[in-house]
Amino acid sequence: MLAAALLLLVINVARVTRLIQPLAAARVAQLPATDAFHRGEKILILAPHPDDETLCCAGLIQQAQAAGAQVYITFMTSGDGFEFDAALEGHTLRPNAQTFRQLAVTRMAEARAAGQVLGVPVSHLTFLGYPDGSLLPLFLEHYTIPYLAPTTRLTRVTYPGTSSLGHSYTGQSLEGDLGRQVDRLNPDLMFVPAPQDAHADHRVTAYVALRLMAERGQAARLRFWVVHGGLEWPLPKGLHPDEPLTLPSRAVHLAWMRADLTPAQEQRKGQAIRAYHSQMLLLARFLEAFVRKNELLSRTPLPPGPLDTSVPVSP
Ligand SMILES: [Zn+2]
Repeated sequence: MLAAALLLLVINVARVTRLIQPLAAARVAQLPATDAFHRGEKILILAPHPDDETLCCAGLIQQAQAAGAQVYITFMTSGDGFEFDAALEGHTLRPNAQTFRQLAVTRMAEARAAGQVLGVPVSHLTFLGYPDGSLLPLFLEHYTIPYLAPTTRLTRVTYPGTSSLGHSYTGQSLEGDLGRQVDRLNPDLMFVPAPQDAHADHRVTAYVALRLMAERGQAARLRFWVVHGGLEWPLPKGLHPDEPLTLPSRAVHLAWMRADLTPAQEQRKGQAIRAYHSQMLLLARFLEAFVRKNELLSRTPLPPGPLDTSVPVSP
């Protein structure tokens, strides 16, 4: 236990990170560049929680808009399930349902502020308002039977400013709301979490996006990013704008492409991240570790090449 804690502490030191990841920066340098954006192109970013869009893609958002593309962001949840955050924001050790509901309103306001920093019009932001930390049960036990969110005690989309007020917390509702959003926008590209991301809400967002786009014959429009990438990624923690964003250990073999950020784009990304005051209180060193010389996108949700069929399947 102590050894593991020590290891986590040591690998977070910038100089140690460089020593134990001698090839990581070289590997990123060899990646192909992301495709250029075009005037009039429509890009939809799916964010499981308010802040994911900024962490994965604030540089890409700026580059897309500079090229005349239109960026839209859809938030699956309003971030109302983060207990420590609710405790801090509500100044209480035992946050109640009301505190969690207030946290959602706060995080939606922070998302609008971050969008403003990045130049995304507020009319391009959509909040679906489903419960944070609960997307997996929506697609398992609660595909048609409404789910009671344990933190907020809500069973339906409730917050002012959400796109489908009153819709039940079911997988079917969520899939329907997102499907209509996709049909309305008809995005040329959709930036979504990779299925390898460690957070269950992110994995479910990947699953729904893959399903919806496959049904429309548009899976090739998907691009994948990771925010929860495995052991302490991104290393080192904290603000290191001169370091590259290296490959996440959970998804090293995806078909990664690299988007290089200018110092001004990095600076603006940091500013957008800091618009998430409630998150910065607890997670500043994790969040600021995404302000790096590059961002990463993959064309596929799996490593390129033939599937490994050597693993025997038990009967
Ligand atoms: Zn998230």
